[in-house]
Amino acid sequence: MPSTNVDQIKERLPIQDVLSGYIKVEKSGINYKARCPFHNEKTASFYVSPQRGSYYCFGCGVKGDIFSFVQAYEGLDFKGALKILADKAGVPLTGFKPENTDEKEKLFAIMEAATKFYEDELSKHPEITKYFHERGLTDETIKSFRLGFAPDGWRTLSTFLSGKKFSEPLLEKAGLIKKTEKGYYDRFRNRAMFPIFDSTGRVIAFSGRTMVTDDATPKYLNSPDTPLFDKSSALYGIDRAKDAIRKRDYAIIVEGQFDLLLSHQAGVVNTVAASGTALSDSVPSGDRGVTNLQMLARFSKNILFGFDGDKAGINATYRGSLLALGLGMDVKVAKLPSGKDPADVIKENKDDWLKVLKGTEPAVSFFAKHIMETNTDPRERIKMIQKLVLPLVAKIPSAITREHFLGIVEKITGTSATALQSDLISFEKENSTARVAEEKPEKVDRKFSLGERLYGIVFWQQESEKPLIDASKLEEKLKIALGPDRALLVRDTALERKDELIFEAEAGFGADKNLESEFDLLARQLQARELKRTLDELSAKIRQAEQEGADVSDLLAQVKETTTILHTLEN
Ligand SMILES: [Zn+2]
Repeated sequence: MPSTNVDQIKERLPIQDVLSGYIKVEKSGINYKARCPFHNEKTASFYVSPQRGSYYCFGCGVKGDIFSFVQAYEGLDFKGALKILADKAGVPLTGFKPENTDEKEKLFAIMEAATKFYEDELSKHPEITKYFHERGLTDETIKSFRLGFAPDGWRTLSTFLSGKKFSEPLLEKAGLIKKTEKGYYDRFRNRAMFPIFDSTGRVIAFSGRTMVTDDATPKYLNSPDTPLFDKSSALYGIDRAKDAIRKRDYAIIVEGQFDLLLSHQAGVVNTVAASGTALSDSVPSGDRGVTNLQMLARFSKNILFGFDGDKAGINATYRGSLLALGLGMDVKVAKLPSGKDPADVIKENKDDWLKVLKGTEPAVSFFAKHIMETNTDPRERIKMIQKLVLPLVAKIPSAITREHFLGIVEKITGTSATALQSDLISFEKENSTARVAEEKPEKVDRKFSLGERLYGIVFWQQESEKPLIDASKLEEKLKIALGPDRALLVRDTALERKDELIFEAEAGFGADKNLESEFDLLARQLQARELKRTLDELSAKIRQAEQEGADVSDLLAQVKETTTILHTLEN
């Protein structure tokens, strides 16, 4: 691909404009800064330089340009990011000729051709359109979401696509046909078809609902994982929902295709569906590098589960809540009338759906209440709280928020917060990986710690011919943030890679007029991290002391004191 496309796009799109479509960026001297979307942080250490067209995070070390940003943020490959930015810049992409495209491009072409085929078939089968209407969909929704029909035959799609000169092995790779000894046959037969799109709107998979009414045929059939589709990174509806999720600052997640389609039809366009995909918080294979929930967490930290009110729905909500809380998301649950799914509710009256969305509960209290309502035996209740609610609390990265929710559980259940606290500690002891570290970045270069980076600024100023600020003053601040002993230690390790650190400091702050106040802010962040580390050490000590049956009141007092300082610092 000629680099001219990339250069043209960069010329037309200032980096701060592109990024501000995704995150809140604020002017800071001649640069911009923001809270880093790639790691969990409360204060801004993500710097954007319009001059260099690049960004750099002092918290986790991510850096790059508009292309790498869109790629990482939306979980796309380079071409996906290129497509988004070219559209934005109004630059027509050149250099895409069918004969020299790579395999992925061919697979995208196949999925597009298959989508058109299924759409055409739908127009030939009015009974399927009638079925969609009966489920509450309008013609506009059917058209906009490109719903279709896979006819009842073994080779209808494969014959059609082979006629378009797509090879059978490639169609198999796209997940559309399957191979037997006797040859290939269509995977989707006699099914209403729902294309699943990536965040740029390209079809990457299908979900098909059977039109057969027997018990032997699975109701829904989904594409297998392919080079275009990974269950754990795709989300149905994300292409239509992402802008609204950013604007409204929360995402609604529902279970089924019809739930999603009807929610969008009702104007609630910040809805996505888990159907055909698998909610996940661990990094998937391949070059995607981001899971569906991580992607959602970047668009907004607030998520609302609107799953079915039956047992399976509650269980799925619970699993999803555990994952989302672990990503530092604020998780709420909508209570649906039992036996109904969102599609049923919306079909009856769309205003009822809006009411359901208003009557939500934080996940922790939702499940605490659910347990109290569905169990009458007090011992059973406590057992269930320990088994189900404490793991949710344990997933919450912030110590202060954990406290807050333990208080709420105390109110709902009448169990004392101290007892809950000690149960929580023993739960964490048995599940040492219960919680991800608060500031742990997902998949980034952790070459330097924040402390080392700040020493980089000190070294840079020391060696600069025209220093912007007094380096010794900065060093004093680091001693306060880290404590004198740790400060010496961090300084020593930083000295080992002095040149690299100076280079990074200059790249990040070279043209920053507010260097000192930026430094202060980052130093406060560093101090907060140190305090959190101290808290971790203290809880390890408490665990050990408890095992040995020793008195922990001193340690608990220290926890309280440290938490107070941390709280003051964070506000
Ligand atoms: Zn970061």
